[in-house]
Amino acid sequence: MTEKDLAQRTSLRFNDLWSYDSAPESSDYVQLKERYDLFIDGAFQPPENGKYFKSINPATEEVLSEVADAGKADVDKAVKAARKAYNGTWSRIPAKERGKYIYRISRMIQERAREFAILESMDSGKPIRESRDIDIPQVVAHFFYYAGWADKLDYAFPGVKPKAVGVAGQIIPWNFPLLMAAWKIAPALAAGNTVVIKSAESTPLSLYKLAELLRDAELPPGVVNIISGAGNTGAEIVQHPDIDKIAFTGSTEVGKLIQKSVAGTDKKYTLELGGKAANIVFEDAPVDQAVEGIVNGIFFNQGHVCCAGSRLLVHEAISEELVRKLKMRMETLIVGDPLDKNTDIGAINSRPQLEKIQRYLAESVEEGQDIYQTKCTLPEKGYWCCPTLVDNVSQSHRVVQEEVFGPVLTIQTFRTPAEAISLANNTPYGLSGGIWTDKGSKIFKVGKDIRAGVIWSNTFNKFDPTSPFGGYKESGVGREGGLHGLLPYLELSK
Ligand code: ADP
Repeated sequence: MTEKDLAQRTSLRFNDLWSYDSAPESSDYVQLKERYDLFIDGAFQPPENGKYFKSINPATEEVLSEVADAGKADVDKAVKAARKAYNGTWSRIPAKERGKYIYRISRMIQERAREFAILESMDSGKPIRESRDIDIPQVVAHFFYYAGWADKLDYAFPGVKPKAVGVAGQIIPWNFPLLMAAWKIAPALAAGNTVVIKSAESTPLSLYKLAELLRDAELPPGVVNIISGAGNTGAEIVQHPDIDKIAFTGSTEVGKLIQKSVAGTDKKYTLELGGKAANIVFEDAPVDQAVEGIVNGIFFNQGHVCCAGSRLLVHEAISEELVRKLKMRMETLIVGDPLDKNTDIGAINSRPQLEKIQRYLAESVEEGQDIYQTKCTLPEKGYWCCPTLVDNVSQSHRVVQEEVFGPVLTIQTFRTPAEAISLANNTPYGLSGGIWTDKGSKIFKVGKDIRAGVIWSNTFNKFDPTSPFGGYKESGVGREGGLHGLLPYLELSK
């Protein structure tokens, strides 16, 4: 057999191995209404201004439904309902009863997990594997975990009597709609607060499904109010005088606006903002595992995660081998229908987000960086981006410094741990990071010196409700998850 024959055969086998028949989940599991009103005081209510906007499926560009665009009057109505529920019921019922409601919510979401996962993939574009195996199980786990805290708060802070803050205003992004809602609603309710929460403009639907579920769970009216709208609706929540605490997840730019807006008020706030995580691979790392961790960190989620491992820092002794293996692995990634169970990379969440990613890549080309994109075939409709490597970059390039929020990985090499630490820290952000090495001592040394809220070692993007999450520097203020995640929702007085 000639070498050419052999090569042909190998590539045939490779393609055979990685071609799967499509295995889509059925969207029939999800019953969507044509229009969703605001969920205020336990009932769906039309917006005062009569305005609605459309939510589309980014994989098909089809309109899924339209949702209310809440204005100032609606925000005020929602805050009043939350205040009434706080004073009237939620702060009065025994803590263990609060816990029971939260357990019930957790159980009911679990029972309807498939429906929620499919809807989340339809509205956001994320692969069903992610919504089914990560988003929804984590949502359930968060409600379950915080349900357990409700009646134990009195024992959590010795010598101190914790008290709820009051009404929480919560604003979430589009990358993990229901999960971000769970991160915010579950600790707020467990600590005895009531909530007004706003979804992101491109992913409002799973929160309205949650609203239906809360109603079915007979949560007292007004305890959780769910509204939709764009940035100005968010700003109304932030500025409302009767909100006691703001919880925000989103861009650093908006986080700074919120910080300015609450300065001088007695509102508490937590901000979970952008990130530019370095995934550091040392020369003694298990290379194949690291490749899998890198792919998981930046490609499986379209790069739509603030803690995505968007910068690869690799020791120069193994960089050639690692990049070669990474490219091979990337070529096997399936980009396409988010509802297909074989899909690795779904749709980019919206057209503006795709355009933003494309602008970064165009600039990289102009600056002479090396771009490697896989040969994936993309569906005709929808918003898509093939997994991309950007090599030959320097620390000052925008693609290295700024959050692209797409499946785009930059590559830099280093020679010493000190150089790796310095490159990792040379960013305005500090949300997360990854270390790949055989040596525990190196994990501790490097992990200690990287200024980021979460460092994963020999793994990436692992979450657990018991573990606090949050950033250093421009990645935010405060922590969510674990006991730390309750603190912003409590007043602790002697
Ligand atoms: P991204 O760039 O990821 O879309 P944003 O920070 O723009 O992040 O959006 C995150 C959330 O913040 C969304 O729910 C959005 O509607 C809301 N938002 C945008 N601008 C403001 C603002 N000025 N004040 C409060 N919330 C805002």
